Amino acid sequence: MFKVNILTAYPEMFPGSLGYSILGKALKENKWSLNVINLHDFGFDGRKSIDSEPFGGGPGMVIRPDVVEKALLSFNVKDPNECKFIYLTPSGMPLKQSNLLEYIQFSELVLLCGRFEGVDQRAINVLNFIEISIGDYVLAGGEIAAKVLVEGCIRLIPGVLGHPESLLEESFSNDLLEYPQYTRPRVWVDAKNKKHEVPEVLVSGHHENIKKWRKDKSMEKTKFIRPDLIKK
Ligand code: SAH
Repeated sequence: MFKVNILTAYPEMFPGSLGYSILGKALKENKWSLNVINLHDFGFDGRKSIDSEPFGGGPGMVIRPDVVEKALLSFNVKDPNECKFIYLTPSGMPLKQSNLLEYIQFSELVLLCGRFEGVDQRAINVLNFIEISIGDYVLAGGEIAAKVLVEGCIRLIPGVLGHPESLLEESFSNDLLEYPQYTRPRVWVDAKNKKHEVPEVLVSGHHENIKKWRKDKSMEKTKFIRPDLIKK
């Protein structure tokens, strides 16, 4: 079973959104498991503090390496070679769908969520965390970033998605964005009494034409929104 360990100063935030829909169902069915470790349990003083001022000065606080190490040593990772250690940080490598496919090949993940100005770099280096960012913006903490990574991974685990074939043609699977989707009603009359029809080809029943139309739309959209994907 795929196991996710989370090191956080806010354990109440989990499972949170990870407990709903297909992920929540898979969690109940033991298709994955979640172990949440409270960094404050390993605080260094009577107030269970986990952070100190940055050396060299500057605003904010930094999570201490000794606290992270103690939290990490408080539970057993089955096999460290089968476990990926990830620190979520805006200064890390940008997360890609291909990374998620790589992570689920491991049997376990350890995700370190930062807060304040981040985590002492020695903890990252010595404890072998790789640094991963979920995008070019700065959040207040690593918890939502960790949830993004976990959600992306879990839906890829065989048996979690109701329709596994969804994974074959979705965005990024072929370095393309997905084609636009349509459903009923075939003619939608909006509140201003304007009619909007579904593209004719999709209701034609002609599978080859539908395939070609989708491929073209996929290409068109990717060229416009994410030309960097096509260059790959
Ligand atoms: N001083 C840091 C930002 C700290 S933000 C810097 O300038 O790089 C506080 C915490 O939020 C980080 O330790 C990290 O765990 C999390 N975080 C913020 N933005 C993130 C992002 N884009 N991706 C992943 N984690 C992020």
